[in-house]
Amino acid sequence: MRQEERLRLRPTWLEIDLSAIQANAQAIMQATSARRLIAVVKANAYGHGALRVVQSLYDIGVKDFAVATVGEGIELRQGLAATDVKINLLGVQPAEHADVMAQYHLQPAVGDLEWLEAAKSHLNPGQVLGVQLAVDTGMGRMGAGSLLELQRLYSYIEADASFYLAGVFTHFATADDLNQDYYDNQYQKFMSWVQEVGIPEEYWHLANSGSTLWHAQQIPTQTIRVGSVLYGYNPGAPLLTSPIELKPAASLYSKIGAVHQLQAGQSVSYGATYQAEHPQWVATLPIGYADGYNRRLGGMNVLVNGQVEQVIGRVTMDQIIITLHQKEPVGTPVVLLGQSGQKQITIETLADYAETIPHELLTEFSARVPRCYPS
Ligand SMILES: *Cc1c(COP(=O)(O)O)cnc(C)c1O
Repeated sequence: MRQEERLRLRPTWLEIDLSAIQANAQAIMQATSARRLIAVVKANAYGHGALRVVQSLYDIGVKDFAVATVGEGIELRQGLAATDVKINLLGVQPAEHADVMAQYHLQPAVGDLEWLEAAKSHLNPGQVLGVQLAVDTGMGRMGAGSLLELQRLYSYIEADASFYLAGVFTHFATADDLNQDYYDNQYQKFMSWVQEVGIPEEYWHLANSGSTLWHAQQIPTQTIRVGSVLYGYNPGAPLLTSPIELKPAASLYSKIGAVHQLQAGQSVSYGATYQAEHPQWVATLPIGYADGYNRRLGGMNVLVNGQVEQVIGRVTMDQIIITLHQKEPVGTPVVLLGQSGQKQITIETLADYAETIPHELLTEFSARVPRCYPS
């Protein structure tokens, strides 16, 4: 039996709207007048399925992608038929795998000279590695932290035939909050350093999602490098509202697996934290925190036939229990994320309720949950 068939034996699934992702990509490029989009598809495209997302973006002309690890890069390279796709690696990478990165044409972010020297010793004869120069203007994860360091890195790459420059970038720490001073400071450092060193503008990419939504007037956006907005959610929620309409791409569904009536005083789930006050119908759904329905979502709303119901008691590893206004048949679909009738549950709402950010909830949906792509 094929993997997809096996997964579908348990009726819990994520539906991914690829046309929404395409529309979001076009909308954000238009809003920022960007000419090039580096689509960030790390962590399985924020849970949406990297290969399908990359293919759908390639279909509308996107040729640049970014992931976090060498393994993610190889998976993309091996899964794609197209050969004119660039794959960037955003995180810190072990220099001893430079030969593998060159072999699969992956362009790692590089932040210090020692890395380049170590990588050089691991390249095979004739191999050339394209690199993305990381500039640390305040994120504090990696990158050249001064004009002098950037100058040294750039000179080394220009002088050494084992490397070529693929881009120069920085990452903003406060693009989706209200700390404008910190943002300005990062921006000014980047601009003064790259201009002083003389790296041409076509190499620059600094706009993450928050920057494209709230700072696009301020910074160069010839090339933008975004994740969140592609998937249709607002990374600044609930603090900031999005100036452009974003289409959510992911919906999460399950189906009622069992229905029973609680008597007054009866409890459900671990810890017996929920107790019925009067007789009530409840349903059990085959989804739990091992699927990525976070344990902190106990008490959250779900939708049944356009009606709001509630998760009661604790979220368990594989199952949850919900209220029912009336008895419903086994097999009734339940929306845990997405739209049902006039009602909608957004990823921003779920994240706010679980006291986290949308990115975390989306990347937590596990391999046990099949992704479906209706055409
Ligand atoms: C993850 C990541 C991004 C994408 O961030 P969004 O806020 O989702 O757009 C961009 N750049 C770097 C370096 C990243 O690590």
